[in-house]
Amino acid sequence: MFRCGSFDVVGVGFGPSNLALAVAVAEHNTTTPGERLSARFVERQSTFGWHRGMLLEDATMQISFLKDLATLRNPVSPYGFLSYLHDRGRLIDFINYGSAFPTRLEFHDYLEWVAGRFVDDVDYRTTVTSIDPVPDASEFLDIRTSDGATMRTRNVVVATGLAANLPDGVVPGERIWHTRDLLTRTDRPVDPRRVIVVGAGQSAAEAVDHFHRRFESAEVWAVFNRYGYSPADDTPFANRVFDPGAVDDFFGAPPEVKQMILGYHANTNYSVVDPELIESLYRRHYHEKISGRERLRFLNVSRIDDVVASRDHVELVLESMLDGGREAVRADLVVYATGYRPSDPCDLLGDLTGSCLRDDAGRLSINRDYRVATDPALRAGIYVQGATEHTHGLSSTLLSNIAVRSGEIVQSIAERTSALV
Ligand code: FAD
Repeated sequence: MFRCGSFDVVGVGFGPSNLALAVAVAEHNTTTPGERLSARFVERQSTFGWHRGMLLEDATMQISFLKDLATLRNPVSPYGFLSYLHDRGRLIDFINYGSAFPTRLEFHDYLEWVAGRFVDDVDYRTTVTSIDPVPDASEFLDIRTSDGATMRTRNVVVATGLAANLPDGVVPGERIWHTRDLLTRTDRPVDPRRVIVVGAGQSAAEAVDHFHRRFESAEVWAVFNRYGYSPADDTPFANRVFDPGAVDDFFGAPPEVKQMILGYHANTNYSVVDPELIESLYRRHYHEKISGRERLRFLNVSRIDDVVASRDHVELVLESMLDGGREAVRADLVVYATGYRPSDPCDLLGDLTGSCLRDDAGRLSINRDYRVATDPALRAGIYVQGATEHTHGLSSTLLSNIAVRSGEIVQSIAERTSALV
């Protein structure tokens, strides 16, 4: 079954990255109606949703509201956060709120507000299963979806986001979760007496905080191999690593300098925690010590092993990496806050992977315009948002640069499309 002819661009996934792309296409079509691009998006969720399982009350964004879907590319965009606030009648209230960091709940509402303007351009509840070459028409790609349909397009933008990381051998279930499902799962009627949270990053600390507040008589144990939580570097000079200009610097840098930048500034994003949350957890821990009723425990330089879930509890072994001591423990719930990894675009590229060029380390070669470098015989464009940290730097998996990045992708597609005419 062919769906509605062919498109200039099909976006795989409709999270913030491709939502920003939809905005950039809409604004391009308004400003240059003679070079209109047709776009369609495919999203496996039933409706727009951005990390719904982690929309914890009070959790705030880690970027300024000005790094929304459009403002850095077009400060007068009708799709910017300020237009949203104005539309919702909260512009003045937000100014009085006095912070550049909205809650994740509010930012989600903003993203939904923008996504609501593109409902006719998205196939929800639909998973892209493969992206295939078109025999005898190398300027096209066929996008195959779970409903058996095929969409023909000149360009595809793969923005399939992050996949949850679990240690080898861990199988999620009713009593073993990844933080990705934190809220969706806790809405179920469980009343745990002991919860173990594994990990030392932002999601881990948020999960510890959440369980401790939500289950007032539960013990919450944080298990991690660090000595303590490390603070996220949100200081202004370090923050420049997320600037649009930093993408040019990173892209042009020699491989060893790229590695150096990723290493030096990993603590802006990876395995780090908002300092206010660290302080708050420590104070609560200390107050519990005073009261003599310690529900919150921090088991540092430790790991868990031999995790076996049964119907009503989880048995596991807690191991101290300091002295090798092992202790058998029972918990009602084990929650892994073990992070995410960018999903691999090659999972969808099937026969096309042979046409994609690779760097010396075997990773996809990606041009500055986010287009995968391919054999020149393939004239269709494969673009990637997200899985480009090795080429475009630390902002790749984040929201910081999505307004500018999506504009650059649209510009590249528009230029290649008009060159064909
Ligand atoms: P995603 O948001 O993951 O969206 C990808 C979409 O693709 C999903 O909707 C998925 O369902 C869909 N999809 C995947 N495969 C297919 C398929 N085969 N077919 C169809 N659809 C598919 N970054 C920041 O800069 N600031 C923050 O404050 C911030 N907070 C975060 C909080 C949490 C809890 C987490 C987990 C991450 C956070 N991040 C933050 C980083 C995060 O990666 C980005 O916020 C953002 O999600 C990237 O958007 P995306 O569209 O690239 O990916």
